[in-house]
Amino acid sequence: MEITFLGTGAGLPSKSRNVSAIALHLLQEENQIWLFDCGEATQHQILHTSIKPRKINKIFITHLHGDHIFGLPGLLSSRSFQGGDDAVTIYGPQGLRDYIVTALRISKSHLNYPITIKEIKDGTVIKEDNYTIYVKELDHGIPSFGYRIVEKDSPGELLVDKLQAKGIPAGPLYGKIKSNEYINTKDYGILYRKDFLGPDKPGKIITIMGDTRYQESFTSFVERSDVLIYEATFNAEQEDLAFQYFHSTTKQAATLAKEGNVKQLIMTHISSRYQLADYEDLLKEAREVFRDTELANDFYHHQIR
Ligand SMILES: [Zn+2]
Ligand SMILES: [Zn+2]
Repeated sequence: MEITFLGTGAGLPSKSRNVSAIALHLLQEENQIWLFDCGEATQHQILHTSIKPRKINKIFITHLHGDHIFGLPGLLSSRSFQGGDDAVTIYGPQGLRDYIVTALRISKSHLNYPITIKEIKDGTVIKEDNYTIYVKELDHGIPSFGYRIVEKDSPGELLVDKLQAKGIPAGPLYGKIKSNEYINTKDYGILYRKDFLGPDKPGKIITIMGDTRYQESFTSFVERSDVLIYEATFNAEQEDLAFQYFHSTTKQAATLAKEGNVKQLIMTHISSRYQLADYEDLLKEAREVFRDTELANDFYHHQIR
């Protein structure tokens, strides 16, 4: 899986940061892309990447503030002109349906593909073939949500040494052993997969949180994520301001990452009050609490291994 940040600014666009949007590339799923939030001009940002809008088949909205949704009607409409015939499912808080349906209706926008809008609430669980997505309500003055995306475990590696010790040579048989619970062979008798596979490979966990104040109670929701994406609108000093505006600081982001025992923290939703010269400080104050922290910029690309 890979993540591309399409917009990393807070509230309003600046020259260096557009408003929120994140693309999650599911490499094993025939190149599907899931989009998280769709601030204004997200489709312009996409033009600077290799992302094909027709491959976006799910959109998850964290909350209904303009900097997270004003790009949605435009993106949906343009997708019709870009060979997007496949259905799109859009998840988000109550009110999302009204917003999309009204914007498309009064602008007389016609989509040549079906959309399904699913309004979520705290505790919603979305089940996909290879993923389960958990939803948690955050603390942002209006309903705002986090998404915890849990990939299914995959079968472990074939234990080649063990197969060879039994005299089974490498070849198509190896593939058959891996994809069947057992196979009946003429030369080697019945071979059970479980005897020749290493332990299951745990699926990846990516948690993408919407705008929010920091709360200790988020810890179990983000626990053991391979990647936690969390807002850091303010620097460590501005904790009071962050609280007042229902946002978080760098230090709070790092504290959550540390308490949740995640592998990697990526901070985003950075206020335009901070300029290039400040980024090092923002990163430093977070890394003092949690070392494996990055600060996303627009088009920052992260591979999840
Ligand atoms: Zn925002
Ligand atoms: Zn917001």
